[in-house]
Amino acid sequence: MSSVDQQPSPVSLSCVDIDLEERHRLLRQTEIKAKIAEEDRRISERYATSCPVCGSRMHRHGMSRSKELWTRAGMVLISLTRLRCPTCHHFAVPAHSLVDDGLLSSVAQQFVELCRFNSFATSAKLLNKLLGIDIPVMTLHSYVRRQAVYFDDEIVRATEALYKQGIFPDVDASLAPGAPLYLAIDEGLMHEWTYCHNKKRADKTKQFVTAHCAVFFDGRRRISSDTAKPRYALTSRYGHASATTSIDQFFSETVTLSYKRGYTSSHPLFILTDGAKYLARGIETHFPGSIHLLDIFHLKSRVAALIDEAHPLYERSIEAIRAYDPRRLLAVIDGCQVFDEQERELKKSLLGYVSRNAQFIYNHRDPRTRVHGSASAEKAVDLLVARRFKNRGMSWTEPGCEVLLRFQVLAYNRQLDDYWQARHERSSVLQTLPDKEDVASSLPAFAATQASGNHPAYYHQVHLNDHERTAGINVN
Ligand SMILES: [Zn+2]
Repeated sequence: MSSVDQQPSPVSLSCVDIDLEERHRLLRQTEIKAKIAEEDRRISERYATSCPVCGSRMHRHGMSRSKELWTRAGMVLISLTRLRCPTCHHFAVPAHSLVDDGLLSSVAQQFVELCRFNSFATSAKLLNKLLGIDIPVMTLHSYVRRQAVYFDDEIVRATEALYKQGIFPDVDASLAPGAPLYLAIDEGLMHEWTYCHNKKRADKTKQFVTAHCAVFFDGRRRISSDTAKPRYALTSRYGHASATTSIDQFFSETVTLSYKRGYTSSHPLFILTDGAKYLARGIETHFPGSIHLLDIFHLKSRVAALIDEAHPLYERSIEAIRAYDPRRLLAVIDGCQVFDEQERELKKSLLGYVSRNAQFIYNHRDPRTRVHGSASAEKAVDLLVARRFKNRGMSWTEPGCEVLLRFQVLAYNRQLDDYWQARHERSSVLQTLPDKEDVASSLPAFAATQASGNHPAYYHQVHLNDHERTAGINVN
């Protein structure tokens, strides 16, 4: 054998890099398992000193069945210490709540972030390609959907308090004295899942999932120096969106939010819509003191469908719109000649649209309003709904859509990082493990069923996170 053969074959740095990554991932799995074992030991020792039912000292009784836990290094199988009370035979797996969802919030964040921008199938592929995590699409989907239990229903509670008890919500944004508050309301339509996939079972009237979107802002500022095509950004923007609430509930929640955004009767409230009838009705009912504005961009595009730039009446129609003069605009449309049935229909519906919304066009003349088009609000709907939910071939159920929508809203309101930080910190066992007296005193219901000989649950666990899970996390 020559000496050349004995030399180790040359290895590329890329191969080393890929190899190291995989080795480190496996090492991280070992480390996280060791950390869980350490926590398990610590919690069990503390818990073992007193049985929550009878107060006797508990003994170790083997390990629980192994359970899947998703971590940033992939899925690990873990089993936890089981305790048994020699006096009353009560069983406990005290550290169970460390892992009972099967998913650490650290990895939930990664799952959700991928799924916010990609389909579930693409996200599963990316997890595999980028992080070496091999997760079936349906498992990923169910983990993301289960994030719903962590959401706080603060706005629902505040709305109930306002409407049932007349308690005004805490104000979390300030408005300068007399300054206007703007609200743009729009909706996003998505294909409904059952309608697309199971035509037999589908409710034929329910072809779409509707997400109602509302955006509050207190003005806008120029963000580009290009004078020919100025661009604006909303100031103090705050969005709200839901696919599961009724339009009535959505309006009530929006009223509550308007108070949270600093609205009082001494501020003018301008509401921009695209002129949909149901929105006009809702505004009349829920915001009687507001000034309803028809979005000028919508109006222009509706008019342009009949009178486009090449049309001899174009200039006059634009002048009438710029003057916020619905009567003049109606006269221009009325004078427009039509040559076929389609145009006749278009003209008729446009006349109806303008006369129905005449007051909301006229309202733009209010000297206090600085915003006439809801282009920025359209953008919000685009960010909240269209980009993720309306891609080709996608369809949704209302609850499935709602979960991701809640994350999109948090991101839009720039609260998403704080949300995850709070989630990560809330599940810290070190902070939330109660003293053993608290453990015992928090379980009177369990002790009662135990005493009556009725054993509803074989295991008993320390529910470290239960409060957070049901009450949700308030990140405001
Ligand atoms: Zn006992």
